[in-house]
Amino acid sequence: MIEVKQLIKKFGDNTVLAGINFHVNQGEVVAIIGPSGSGKSTLLRCLNLLEKPQSGIITIGDVVLNAKHYSRQDEHHLRHQSAMVFQHYNLFKNKTALANITEALVVAQKWGKKEAHQEGLRLLEQVGLLAQANQYPITLSGGQQQRVAIARALAVKPKVLLFDEPTSALDPEKVHEVLQVIHKLANNNTTMVIVTHEMEFAKQVADRVIFMAEGHIVEEGSAIDVLERPKQPQTQRFLRQLS
Ligand code: ADP
Ligand code: MG
Repeated sequence: MIEVKQLIKKFGDNTVLAGINFHVNQGEVVAIIGPSGSGKSTLLRCLNLLEKPQSGIITIGDVVLNAKHYSRQDEHHLRHQSAMVFQHYNLFKNKTALANITEALVVAQKWGKKEAHQEGLRLLEQVGLLAQANQYPITLSGGQQQRVAIARALAVKPKVLLFDEPTSALDPEKVHEVLQVIHKLANNNTTMVIVTHEMEFAKQVADRVIFMAEGHIVEEGSAIDVLERPKQPQTQRFLRQLS
């Protein structure tokens, strides 16, 4: 579903992604872990061209993009293969939970109001927030806002969901409700790439774990292998210092 070849991203002289290669199969859940500053967010952001890589080839679904030369249309197509959930929700503050979800359907995808409304309610039900449909973000807890953000990402029916530390801005008691929603999506065969600090969650939900450091993939393998029997000293050190 995703294939990335020799992806290079620099900010000025700072090489943040030093030739990344990885793939994600359809229905697979891949967790990306690693120290702060290792390039995890940049990697996700390159997948939907929120950041422009200098070189490399990105394939998502049936869209192939060569970072060295691509058209506006290629860019547009690649963007529409994935949807991203950020650490800080990024909901529209002046729109209700429901309107946050239906916005993209009505504006970008030209759905009728009634169909979009119904689809929005279905998605809110899926994340357990039907009763909050008409509330504004400010009246929702962090966990609820993040669940709206997930429903909004699902609305455009992306082939891949990208999560960048979806629980790290939440109060500890709200983490579980968000992870539960992601877990449910995993059980429904949703293809997902999740940058996370939640090692227990990664162990439960990820088919594969990638450990990144300094713009490289240092180690990857099954969640159990990487998290419980890491081979590389860098991975061992990282995991030890977490516990
Ligand atoms: P992580 O998500 O693993 O913490 P990031 O991908 O956010 O790491 O950052 C990797 C490196 O890229 C860091 O050194 C960071 O300072 C740098 N970086 C990220 N975004 C930018 C940017 N917009 N401009 C300049 N440097 C950036
Ligand atoms: Mg990050």
